[in-house]
Amino acid sequence: MSKSKIVPLNFAAVNQQSPPSFSSEVLRSKRKTLALYISHKKVLVRCPQRASRAEVQEFVNSNQDWIQNRLQEESLHDQERLRIEKGGKIFYRARELTIEFKEGRKQRILINGDRFIIQGHKLTAAKARVQVEDYLIDKASEYIIPRARGLARYLGVDRKISEIKLRKTKTKWGHCTSAGVVQYNWLIMLAPYSIIDYMITHEVCHLVHMDHSRRYWNLVESICPSHSHYIDWLKEHEHRYWF
Ligand SMILES: [Zn+2]
Repeated sequence: MSKSKIVPLNFAAVNQQSPPSFSSEVLRSKRKTLALYISHKKVLVRCPQRASRAEVQEFVNSNQDWIQNRLQEESLHDQERLRIEKGGKIFYRARELTIEFKEGRKQRILINGDRFIIQGHKLTAAKARVQVEDYLIDKASEYIIPRARGLARYLGVDRKISEIKLRKTKTKWGHCTSAGVVQYNWLIMLAPYSIIDYMITHEVCHLVHMDHSRRYWNLVESICPSHSHYIDWLKEHEHRYWF
């Protein structure tokens, strides 16, 4: 008797047109209004203590389109997340490159056409990841630090800088404290130079105005006139940079 082969059906592909189902969780609190949050493929409804089930359901139903769009966006972002592995895609300077591993005694990273080549000895995904991290930290200290200092000098606030830190943070690109600590996320080195320059400008201008006031944005604009375009660009693509 021959064993019949089980062919898995690809439900995901078949159902591509119909919206995916989702589970939702309801959290009651002292709040006065209903609000929706999306995270990790889940929908969270925050509502007042006394909101009825029907009311909550009606609220979810009336926001179906928004929920579906957000869920779709979340799953797309997840697919596009950077994975440092052989054959993976890296969104480098606004171009999608393919990651290649190359055997070699010398550790280095080469960008050739649409290939992002990681060269090292007996490379593994973990080793390659460390190599990319080191590469970006090096690039950031070569590029960001002198430019931030140069801009601060131009604005007459170089004495206010106590330290420029490079650090990978979970969500932020940069940070500036009133004590003069300017911090940049070195992952920004994956972005185009115009975006990096905007981030440099953003933090250094805080040494002049410690807020996001009109005066602050006027100063940013005088140095980086296309800043709003760069902010939008970063919002759209930044999910591809964290690894
Ligand atoms: Zn700011």
